[in-house]
Amino acid sequence: KAVGRNKHHVFTDELHNTNRTRLELIERLRGVAMVERELTMAYQPIVELATGTVVGAEALIRWNHPELGLLMPDTFIPLAEDADLIVPLSMWIITEVAHTIADWQARDIHLQIGVNVSPAHFATGTLATDVIDIVDTYRIEPGRLALELAESQTLHDLDAVHYQLRDVQRHGVLIAIDDFGTGFSSLERLATLPVDILKIDKSLTQHLDSDNLHRRRAMTTLCTALVDVTATLGKDTVIEGIETAEQLQICTDMGVTFGQGHLLGRPMSSAALEQFIARHSTH
Ligand code: C2E
Ligand code: CA
Ligand code: CA
Ligand code: CA
Repeated sequence: KAVGRNKHHVFTDELHNTNRTRLELIERLRGVAMVERELTMAYQPIVELATGTVVGAEALIRWNHPELGLLMPDTFIPLAEDADLIVPLSMWIITEVAHTIADWQARDIHLQIGVNVSPAHFATGTLATDVIDIVDTYRIEPGRLALELAESQTLHDLDAVHYQLRDVQRHGVLIAIDDFGTGFSSLERLATLPVDILKIDKSLTQHLDSDNLHRRRAMTTLCTALVDVTATLGKDTVIEGIETAEQLQICTDMGVTFGQGHLLGRPMSSAALEQFIARHSTH
């Protein structure tokens, strides 16, 4: 695992440094990466903190490149965005996730899956109809799917985003605001946007058990306030990036509903997630 991680960093540097590699990756993404199934979705468990039950997962894309090995999304999602490939890629991702949800639904595995949506897909204006089409085609319960959009994305072109979110939400698909605490959303925006779930960013979580007492207290106060406001608005909170037992305890004490992070489970294949759930169910 450590070797894989180092390898990943080497290639990340390489990607940033050579235009040739960038162009080759874009070409491969445009060409064979989707059809040859080099792209896969990993699923990271989302746990109800009060009970420890796995209630869902976040779908995270991976690229098994034949020469470069496992590539993480931060290395190729920006390339896809620059090269106008994000819409086809986004369609591939949502379809793939819908397919997995349909398969689980047929086998009585009921999980809520979060999928990250790119601002570029919103900008086309077709995101809502695209998502609704896929949900209907695969006959999945709409409430099994949650669209995650980063807090910063909601700042741009607010009207266009707003009506698309409403459409999707009316159809029963859930909306999550991702990376909350890193952008500049006002609480007013949170109250007026059609949003079901607030995901608190891992940069906040990491300070909850900081040795710096001042920082620790500030973060705990901020998170507690966020959780309270969110609950008052009738929305759920997910806190991301729980890595230590102490962070988990603090989050549970604050009344956060759901958690996600390496301590609770790493991203894994859909088959591995099924086994993970079987091992972690209480009976
Ligand atoms: P994100 O949406 O904030 O996803 C959470 C990231 O945090 C994931 O990184 C996950 O592996 C990582 N993570 C989970 N638990 C922990 C933890 O305890 N500690 C730490 N330090 N990290 C943790 P990943 O998979 O590398 O994804 C990075 C970003 O790439 C995502 O951030 C998301 O913005 C984007 N991304 C991933 N998959 C997709 C996708 O299918 N479509 C789009 N448009 N973007 C995606
Ligand atoms: Ca996310
Ligand atoms: Ca996030
Ligand atoms: Ca992020």
